[in-house]
Amino acid sequence: MCRIETIAKQTGAAFTLRKGDYLKVIDPEGEQVSDLVLFNKDDIRERISNGKSMDFEESILLTQGNTLWSNRSRKMATIVEDTNGRNDFLLAPCSPATFKIMYNNHEEHPSCFENLLRNLEPYGVRPDDIPTAFNVFMNVQFDKDGKLSVEPPTSKAGDYVLFQAEMDLIVGLTACSAEESNNYSFKPIQYQIIENK
Ligand SMILES: [Zn+2]
Repeated sequence: MCRIETIAKQTGAAFTLRKGDYLKVIDPEGEQVSDLVLFNKDDIRERISNGKSMDFEESILLTQGNTLWSNRSRKMATIVEDTNGRNDFLLAPCSPATFKIMYNNHEEHPSCFENLLRNLEPYGVRPDDIPTAFNVFMNVQFDKDGKLSVEPPTSKAGDYVLFQAEMDLIVGLTACSAEESNNYSFKPIQYQIIENK
């Protein structure tokens, strides 16, 4: 078992995960979202797909027992445990454009998109390669007409989601930088890689 790594507030990380190994994403303080993106380690053109995942899992709310699928319709990771149970797979990673378009904020603002890109660039990932992330702990609600709202995460300190890799992966992970997603306070995210020996 590897030690627990900490992603400082409003930053990100990238690393590889071998097929069969586990990734535990932990909310150490509560109410903090973490954007997760996955790429095939051997071909980054294959990446996590929310459309394929929702199609094959027949749900827009993925949790324990569900699988995250690639754009090539292959299994990338399965959610083995989810102590909170609420995640989002609808909304794109927050980006400089998000803050300009939605909040009319034209000042420098950290974002998941930039934090993912910065950490994934050494693996050859380019801006247009960043897919819609699996937003761990993100609480997006929708009414019967499809109207969306971003609510505070329901995660409490110590809640975690445990993923098992179904192929060799490159993983991008953030501590989300969007005010509304994190109940207006930014916290760290922790993760742990657990080898399956
Ligand atoms: Zn974000």
